[in-house]
Amino acid sequence: MEYSGWTLYKRLLGYVKPFWKSFLVAVVGYAIYAASSTALAEMMKRLIDGIQNPDAAFRLFLPLFVVGMFGARGVGTFLGTYFMSNVARNMVHALRCDVFNHMLRLPGRFFDNHSSGHLISRVTYHVEQVTGAGTKAITVILQEGLFVLGLLGYLLWTNWMLTLLFMAVTPLIGGVVSYASKRFRRISKRIQRSMGDVTHVASEALTGYRVVRTHGAEKYEMGRFHDASEVNRRQSLKEALTKATSTPVIQMLVALSLALLVWLAMSPALMDNMTPGEFVAFITAASLMAKPIRSLSEINGTIQKGIAASSELFGLLDEPEERDTGTLMPERLQGRIQLEQVRFAYGDDQPEVLKGIDLDVRKGEMVAIVGRSGSGKSTLVSLLPRFYRPTGGRILIDGTPIEEYQLTALRQQIALVSQQVTLFNATIAENIAYGVPDADPADIEAAARAAHAHEFIERMPGGYQALVGDNGVMLSGGQRQRMAIARAIFKDAPILILDEATSALDTESERHIQAALEEVCKDRTTLVIAHRLSTIERADRILVMEQGEIIEQGSHAELLERDGGAYAALHQLQFQEA
Ligand code: ADP
Ligand code: MG
Repeated sequence: MEYSGWTLYKRLLGYVKPFWKSFLVAVVGYAIYAASSTALAEMMKRLIDGIQNPDAAFRLFLPLFVVGMFGARGVGTFLGTYFMSNVARNMVHALRCDVFNHMLRLPGRFFDNHSSGHLISRVTYHVEQVTGAGTKAITVILQEGLFVLGLLGYLLWTNWMLTLLFMAVTPLIGGVVSYASKRFRRISKRIQRSMGDVTHVASEALTGYRVVRTHGAEKYEMGRFHDASEVNRRQSLKEALTKATSTPVIQMLVALSLALLVWLAMSPALMDNMTPGEFVAFITAASLMAKPIRSLSEINGTIQKGIAASSELFGLLDEPEERDTGTLMPERLQGRIQLEQVRFAYGDDQPEVLKGIDLDVRKGEMVAIVGRSGSGKSTLVSLLPRFYRPTGGRILIDGTPIEEYQLTALRQQIALVSQQVTLFNATIAENIAYGVPDADPADIEAAARAAHAHEFIERMPGGYQALVGDNGVMLSGGQRQRMAIARAIFKDAPILILDEATSALDTESERHIQAALEEVCKDRTTLVIAHRLSTIERADRILVMEQGEIIEQGSHAELLERDGGAYAALHQLQFQEA
């Protein structure tokens, strides 16, 4: 999404609003700084005029004036620098948290379309760019900008005609600045995107380091990373080139107008009208302008970077959140699930993954779903917690369309163990009682026992307080799955969904869990997706899915008896393998 400069400034200012008091103090500080700096020119005038006709009072006044001026300048600098940093840091903190919080509310489809590397770089790199614009740039703009204004005012007061001549070059400077700004912003966008690429490639290659090494793909990954970094290098140099060119050009323009000014000021007609003091003060004030103008033109790049970054951030903040218009907040549902002609496709241009599913699951029933990989089993169960919305048909729980429940309340009713287990780098206990602070240790242990995880947890040094490492690297695949099952049991929800939750377990542990699950499933509705048919023989009902449709259903015994049935064929196949 493209935003115009003004909309961005206004939105950024919105973040400054809560800290307007600090902002005001900073502005006052910079005003003091600008006024006392401008006084330097006035001092020159007094000095030169004083030399010509000295007196005792003047001798005392001048040194005091110098000390007073620098004292005021110091106070002004302190107030401005500190309070502006205060505003900028608070603002960035608020923006960063907003972006992160918003990402936690975005729909599943958003995450399908964006790599985590790019998203991470938004909250790290992009936000830092805004900080740069916030702290450095606003400081320079206010400090030097007010100084330039003060000097201009002083010049106008001393000799307005000369000043207007001096200012004749400002449109030229403006032109250079505006050209450079556009270029900066364009390049900054590219740099920020390339930073996303760098993060993305690095995080992929580093988290998957085993795959990279076993496939001998180090060279390939090095190449990929080199390319991403190379784009970044090239764009950064372009930016440096723009900055390195625009600053001297602006300087040169200022120098030219200064030269013209001196030449004009030294014309006999003008010299007669001014005291030597006034003349020196005028030239001093005009040459004092050079430094702030340089700082202002240098800071332009930083500002443009910040603007480009905030445009990306606001773009992300404007992504619509997960739709949550439901109002019902049931305490605990019974767990009857009905699907009526449910259709689903991952995108408008993608094939239908579910083609009219009809299903009625009784409260407390255990339904198993089998079928080839890619037949839509995981997709089907991901519709229940509303990770995605069906493109057709409707889903009801306890007779109410799931859209009418509030999202968090609905998800509270569902415990889901998926194919990919996610563990957090926290203790075992915290992982089982995820999202529940101050959980009762006895409940955690009971859940772990039911999931047959207690034995291995006890053997770990530290037991329930042991850390599991980044995404649980300290645990085996089977242990991770048992952790995930323990987490689901701990949640104690009326609907339990197990999506190939036992695929990484050995037959022995699986049998144990089987027994435990039968216990756990007793008064809840359970959907089990299983690869190994032996694990679902005792399900109340078995559904066979193929290419987004339910092609068979019945109990294990019923389905086996069916001649030429899909389930019978699957069973035959696995029986032979075993
Ligand atoms: P199963 O769990 O039965 O193996 P899935 O439900 O995971 O099958 O996948 C069904 C189909 O949907 C597959 O063809 C797969 O390519 C596609 N699919 C799965 N997830 C996504 C996604 N996030 N975006 C686009 N297509 C997807
Ligand atoms: Mg699946």
